[in-house]
Amino acid sequence: PLIHIGTGTCGLAAGAGEVLAEARAFLNKSGLLARIVEVGCLGLCYQEPLLGIKSLGHPMIYYGRVSAANTAEILKAQLIDGEPDTKAALFTMGSDAVNGVPDFHELPFVRPQVRIALRNCGLIDPGEIDHYLARGGYEGLKRALGLSPHEVIEEIKASGLRGRGGAGFPTGVKWDFAHKSKSSEKYFICNADEGDPGAFMDRSLLEGDPHAVLEGMIIGAYAIGASEGYVYIRTEYPLAIKRLETALEQMKAYGLLGGGILDKGFAFHIKIKEGAGAFVCGEETALMASIAGGRGMPRSRPPFPAQAGLWERPTNINNVETLANVSAIMERGADWFAGYGTKKSKGTKTFSLAGKIRRTGLIEVPMGTRLKEIIEEIGGGVIGGGNFKAVQTGGPSGGCIPFSLNHLPVDYESLAEAGSIMGSGGMVVMDERTCMVDMARYFLTFTGNESCGKCLPCRLGSRQLLDILIDICEGRGSPEDLDLLEEVGEAMQKASLCGLGQTAPNPVISTLKYFRQEYEKHVIDHK
Ligand code: SF4
Repeated sequence: PLIHIGTGTCGLAAGAGEVLAEARAFLNKSGLLARIVEVGCLGLCYQEPLLGIKSLGHPMIYYGRVSAANTAEILKAQLIDGEPDTKAALFTMGSDAVNGVPDFHELPFVRPQVRIALRNCGLIDPGEIDHYLARGGYEGLKRALGLSPHEVIEEIKASGLRGRGGAGFPTGVKWDFAHKSKSSEKYFICNADEGDPGAFMDRSLLEGDPHAVLEGMIIGAYAIGASEGYVYIRTEYPLAIKRLETALEQMKAYGLLGGGILDKGFAFHIKIKEGAGAFVCGEETALMASIAGGRGMPRSRPPFPAQAGLWERPTNINNVETLANVSAIMERGADWFAGYGTKKSKGTKTFSLAGKIRRTGLIEVPMGTRLKEIIEEIGGGVIGGGNFKAVQTGGPSGGCIPFSLNHLPVDYESLAEAGSIMGSGGMVVMDERTCMVDMARYFLTFTGNESCGKCLPCRLGSRQLLDILIDICEGRGSPEDLDLLEEVGEAMQKASLCGLGQTAPNPVISTLKYFRQEYEKHVIDHK
């Protein structure tokens, strides 16, 4: 028998550690020979702790919201009595429904999803390279090393993959710039500095399937000609860091890292660099300054990282999810990947569904999936019923999309047209009780605290926006303040040095655009 326990951060926070201890105690006591596998997040964070049991004659059957109190009971029913508790069971994996228990892929939460970046999350032991290899891991790397760097870049270009960190720049084109830069030393960096409130995609991916990301890194390094790489990850992600460290050790032992990878003569080394958790270090130039030991502050571009990046050498930086897609694309081909998504936004996108929604969790949908489908079908709608009021996409750099735009296809272009951004993939759902002015104040407090202070428009602008929002929330606002918010916000968008300042006013501007009457009500009510 096989026992799966979700021990990603979401599972552990819900009590998976106690469930794991109970399961071990049960096996010890009963003398049963069963293997416990600690898996990452399967996506259903709202059902954690999740326990899966595979026994003779049955498919893997999963139970949700298991506690230390009922773990032994569930295990006994299926493993000793031979009768799975189908009333308590949530779903099965890898087979048709059993006694009315639906298959995983038939769950409303899962049905509209296509899992490419998350293909192994929750299904393998992230601490076992053999699990990854058994599911086709490192086949993409093998294929890439049989091609020329130029051919690898062309394959990524043909796939239409765009950066999943937020900006959406075509990955193959970015690689091409770094590839064409002449230097004996180049660097390849994985940006794992996820820091948006409400976003946890990259953390879950690294916790659940670190090899998918590291394989993408080696492929990218080969394509641009880099011999050294860094994973820049915030120190607040200890489990993801632990998984990465284990993965790197195993890769060395399997000849997948170091000199002569897979005996192909290509050498690449990866180091982990822990950041202290400054949001601005997600910005490329600040991130490189931090790796080099300096203060994490952005600088103006040009020169672009592809020309002069880390230690003034050509450098390429990609986000975690982008790299997990790279390894899948090299394994299965550009056409397969480009078969998903829209004309300009290919493939899939992961989102962390959070806020006032019934089913919170980690999801991956084809680009172009409508907002309504994500919130109502996958997420099960807002808690307590009714329509959602707004969705914040893209975290503090993003904007608020009202319910009236619920038909919006989620892709780079449509979100930008609506005044928001894709961002890295945070999706916070708000219900009718959410005050939009208060929401804007929350995000501005965050970006104001995270502004590095280097340039004036962001340093003073974010403070001024926040002061006005506080005044409005506390009954000291005036109608003129609304125009001032727009004026200051637009100046910040135009004049700030980096993406943080340029996008910080987005929550204010978008809520003013769609919920102006709410601001006006605050101002009038308090007169
Ligand atoms: Fe720093 Fe803000 Fe200027 Fe970026 S925009 S450099 S975070 S002050």
